[in-house]
Amino acid sequence: MPFMRKQTTISLEDLRYVSIQCARCKSRMILDLGVPVQLGLERPQFVPRGCGVCNEPFDSAVQRLNKFQPVYLELLEAHLKERLCFVAESEIT
Ligand SMILES: [Zn+2]
Repeated sequence: MPFMRKQTTISLEDLRYVSIQCARCKSRMILDLGVPVQLGLERPQFVPRGCGVCNEPFDSAVQRLNKFQPVYLELLEAHLKERLCFVAESEIT
């Protein structure tokens, strides 16, 4: 059987939401990358301190999204949203 792959192209603008799964209770939280963090909060970070269901703190790997979101917003503001896209590949089964 020939090896086939499927490509999906996602524009920068469409890559707007990120879903985080809690390591403890497996619930998912969807965060909007397009909404800047509100300054003036006690802890102005993109990723909440912990799960909204069980309060399990998100680990440091997930907290790295706090560095990704400002880059995402910078790319949008640089008017690259129509020129830049992401390509996902998956095997066709
Ligand atoms: Zn949880």
